[in-house]
Amino acid sequence: RRDALLQYVDKPSVTRDGHPVCLLANVSSMNDITQIEHSGAAGIGLFRTEFLLMQVDSVPNEKQQYQQYCDALHSLNGKVLTIRTFDIGADKEIPCLSQQYEDNPALGVRGIRYSLQHQTLFTTQIKAVLRAANHGRIRLLFPMVNQIEELEQAFELIDWCKQQLVEEEKGFGELNVGIMVETPAAVLNLPHLLPKLDFISIGSNDLTQYTLAADRGNPELVKDYPPVSPAMIRLIKMAVDTCKIHQIKVCLCGELASDTKLISLLVGLGIDELSVNTASLLDVKATICNGQYQQFYRQAQQALGFSHIEQLNQLFS
Ligand code: PEP
Ligand code: MG
Repeated sequence: RRDALLQYVDKPSVTRDGHPVCLLANVSSMNDITQIEHSGAAGIGLFRTEFLLMQVDSVPNEKQQYQQYCDALHSLNGKVLTIRTFDIGADKEIPCLSQQYEDNPALGVRGIRYSLQHQTLFTTQIKAVLRAANHGRIRLLFPMVNQIEELEQAFELIDWCKQQLVEEEKGFGELNVGIMVETPAAVLNLPHLLPKLDFISIGSNDLTQYTLAADRGNPELVKDYPPVSPAMIRLIKMAVDTCKIHQIKVCLCGELASDTKLISLLVGLGIDELSVNTASLLDVKATICNGQYQQFYRQAQQALGFSHIEQLNQLFS
């Protein structure tokens, strides 16, 4: 099967009736990035940089991070690199950083909230990313943004970082900026957030958890609260429709995108880019290349009319 899939490595990711879907890869380490070249991905759609902090005794400094991001760009050979700022908190524990005990970590100081409270950590990373952007195409992605105040503060910090770099006489490049859409509030606030953004990426793992109030790590809940449910489909549709109005590209980078059975639904709903695990990438590409967008669209329309999870399971089995 793997051999049969290899024919898709260099093929463009386009349906039989000519609808392109940009296929990107999710990565969590520098080693993952070196595997990208022959994976069939058009670039990296999600670099979970918090994993760079998990096995070290101290946070890499600006110069070390700059070097890591430059190395990543080098491995990518001109392809896009989407760097998500450290998504600390909730299920992601970082031994070398101080994290306060919280009764409800999933609802606590995580993602952009943690970054805005730990600005030295945050700006060190942003400065390293800005400097690396001088050497290739980088998109910067903020996790767990819910409301405009968080985004405004993040942009102020980007400006502050640029000013610092000018003073330090270090070169830097321009960045495209996006947010992870992983809470219902983020979807509802998109009309206010989008004018500031170049792209969004739907994090379906957390969006499912926060929409259904179901812990993403609890296996007992998966059957009754799966990622594909009427509420999730409506939220994804709402996000896509708002993005189309603002002519902003929508990526989806949660586990949903790695499930070949669900590609028709996601593409049919209007998702422009899918970022998937490298192990599933060629399977997903084959599904796109062998599919018809017209059919994907019809299936998505049908799914939008369903009230029960079971109906969805049958349609996408
Ligand atoms: C998500 O929440 O869907 C996502 C891609 O981010 P993570 O799994 O790293 O929380
Ligand atoms: Mg997430």
